[in-house]
Amino acid sequence: MEEKELSVLDKQRKRRKRVQRIRTGIITFISVWMILSIVLTAIMIVKMISLQKQIDYLAGHYNEAVSVSDTLTNSAADSGIVMQTMNAEENLAAEGDIHKVYLTFDDGPSDNTAEILDILDDYGIKATFFVNGREDENSIAMYKRIVDEGHTIGMHSYSHKYSEIYSSLEGFQNDFNRLQNLIYDTTGVECDLYRFPGGSSNRVSNTDMLEYIEFLNAQNVTYYDWNVSSGDATTQAFTSEELVENVLKDVVKYKTSVVLLHDAGNKTATVQALPGIIEALQQEGALILPIDKNTEIIQHTSIQQKHTEE
Ligand code: ZN
Repeated sequence: MEEKELSVLDKQRKRRKRVQRIRTGIITFISVWMILSIVLTAIMIVKMISLQKQIDYLAGHYNEAVSVSDTLTNSAADSGIVMQTMNAEENLAAEGDIHKVYLTFDDGPSDNTAEILDILDDYGIKATFFVNGREDENSIAMYKRIVDEGHTIGMHSYSHKYSEIYSSLEGFQNDFNRLQNLIYDTTGVECDLYRFPGGSSNRVSNTDMLEYIEFLNAQNVTYYDWNVSSGDATTQAFTSEELVENVLKDVVKYKTSVVLLHDAGNKTATVQALPGIIEALQQEGALILPIDKNTEIIQHTSIQQKHTEE
């Protein structure tokens, strides 16, 4: 009798143990599965955010590239560009004129800024940097170097996101103030120069560009477009030799050339082309200058000042 009872008890114990093991297994499985789901979801969210950022960036730069290729095809001689402030005709160089050339770098600071500054320094050249808003250590150092080394600093929007700056005047103003404050805080410069992402002739803004132009005028901020493009923002990947050619073939036409170049981490051809551009311009006898108050204003779109200054 006792033996029988013992074996029943033993069986019951074994069964309980088996159930316990199965339960532990199920709980472990569910826990692992839940943790994996959470981790995967987190990874997906991070990926999505980074993709959205890339889409915004590409959208911005695609449109910039489009307006750049517009300017490339519309050379100012047949003046597809509406240059009301200084018209293309007035700006055409005659034999013997000295060419004034303003090299402008958009989209920095980047991993290439230091090298661009070093090259400019090697040649004793001053240029203009239309910067975006970045607050990492390197970018802050680059804003300072640009100013300390005698270059002109201009604004090119904090975010460079078309969806933020071109959907409403309010969005544009917030972005503008943020960048102007950042430049002031890091360099002490009260920046009064602007270049619209995509240029004032961009076709992506949902708001009439004249609203933004009026706002900039009210802030006493001058915006510059460009009349010479290196082509370094087009989808066509020019070699550094071609970039030099692109710049030179247009510069020789004008008295004043504002040259569009880019200071971006992936634009190494621009950095490689820079010594060649400078040397070719110097051979041409051109004066390479930073934008200042005396620079002829090159704009694609502009409005007449409604009020004369007192
Ligand atoms: Zn840009």
